[in-house]
Amino acid sequence: MTDEKTSGLIFNVQKFSVHDGEGIRTLVFFKGCPLRCRWCSNPESQNAVPELSYSVQDCLHCGTCAKVCTRGAIRFTDGTPVVQRQLCRPEPGCLCTRTCPGGALGIYGKTVTAGELLRQLLEDQVFYVRSGGGVTLGGGEPLHQPDFALAVLRLARRARLMTNIETCGQTSVETMLSAAALLDTMFMDIKCMDPDKHRAWTGVSNERILENFVRVREAFPRLPITIRTPVIPGFNDNAGDIEAIARFVRRFSGVRHELLPYHRYGEQKYLRIGRRPGMGEASLPEETFATLREVAEKLHDDQL
Ligand code: SF4
Ligand code: SF4
Repeated sequence: MTDEKTSGLIFNVQKFSVHDGEGIRTLVFFKGCPLRCRWCSNPESQNAVPELSYSVQDCLHCGTCAKVCTRGAIRFTDGTPVVQRQLCRPEPGCLCTRTCPGGALGIYGKTVTAGELLRQLLEDQVFYVRSGGGVTLGGGEPLHQPDFALAVLRLARRARLMTNIETCGQTSVETMLSAAALLDTMFMDIKCMDPDKHRAWTGVSNERILENFVRVREAFPRLPITIRTPVIPGFNDNAGDIEAIARFVRRFSGVRHELLPYHRYGEQKYLRIGRRPGMGEASLPEETFATLREVAEKLHDDQL
């Protein structure tokens, strides 16, 4: 299989992004993730299969979707469509999204080849060149589809696009090193240093993630790496957890550490795919975040 023809599942291509690396970038959202962070703001990214989304706000309660679904995956009950997710298998021939008059239905997940994706990425090459930007692979976890992600990175490199990745770090060492060799910059999450707590909140231990970070730093000492820590209420919103991460990160030169505040922007997306948001009413006071950012910055300053 050539790189051009290697295919994968993505759910969005966001152009003109300025928050995910240097300059103007195109951000590609891969579908599928080995973690199940309770606070995930892209829940539609987690499952590595296409998923139907339903927006009750846009629904006209006409019942068309229940009539056109040949799998019987939508039951129209009391004037409202109810998606039977165990029966729903979105595929190109599905009519529900095309015939819904309210635009209430959509599908998260589209199969593309790396060659098709590259052609889309190249449409904005002039902006990347002028701004020092490029392409960022995110998701979901791009390296959860290693063959596809590496094919996209190789093609992007051959086309002289600057490459970046946002990774949770949970992949094999071989895949991580292969990806790092094709990157100009890398964003990796370190969420917590305690393996048991990490497992309880994300579904996996942090051991592989930390090892991958160390291996990448050793093999590519000049690769600019930014470690990101989402600050999550009840999980790591305390000085002890943040300090432990900052102390670990500062052992490695040339690595930036950035805290990201918890937000609730993804809540509607949980409802659209028939799930409940995992964090309930939890919130992060601005003062708490500011204090923790000072804690991390102080440790970094002490290193200089
Ligand atoms: S076809 Fe669209 S508008 Fe009509 S009931 Fe189904 S989701 Fe609602
Ligand atoms: S996506 Fe396909 S299987 Fe699912 S409800 Fe729509 S028509 Fe039925």
